[in-house]
Amino acid sequence: MHELGIVFYIIRDVKEAAREHDVEHVSAVVMNIGEVSMVVPEYLTDCWRWAADKEELLKDCELRVNTIPAVSFCDGCQQEFETVRYGKTCPHCGSPDTWLLRGNEVEIKEIIV
Ligand SMILES: [Zn+2]
Repeated sequence: MHELGIVFYIIRDVKEAAREHDVEHVSAVVMNIGEVSMVVPEYLTDCWRWAADKEELLKDCELRVNTIPAVSFCDGCQQEFETVRYGKTCPHCGSPDTWLLRGNEVEIKEIIV
């Protein structure tokens, strides 16, 4: 499962950060998950519960998901628009010359101890 793989990456990074800072327990991890990142937050938190509770460092540690709205930029008219709503075609000028500005991220935003 895609989400489980991501959970293992998160756990590895959090463990590394905890070791660097001499932290013995983490109470929450905040993730930035882009709207078009293909990650399903519910699956992610389910996998997290299962995997995190196996780690002493992460027992009862909560995974919080911060959803980042997807925004595209149009090279035709230099304006931004909502990716999920309009897809690849700019709603301002109709140009297909657009690219994703943000909304694809899967990253740790904050580790709360
Ligand atoms: Zn445009």
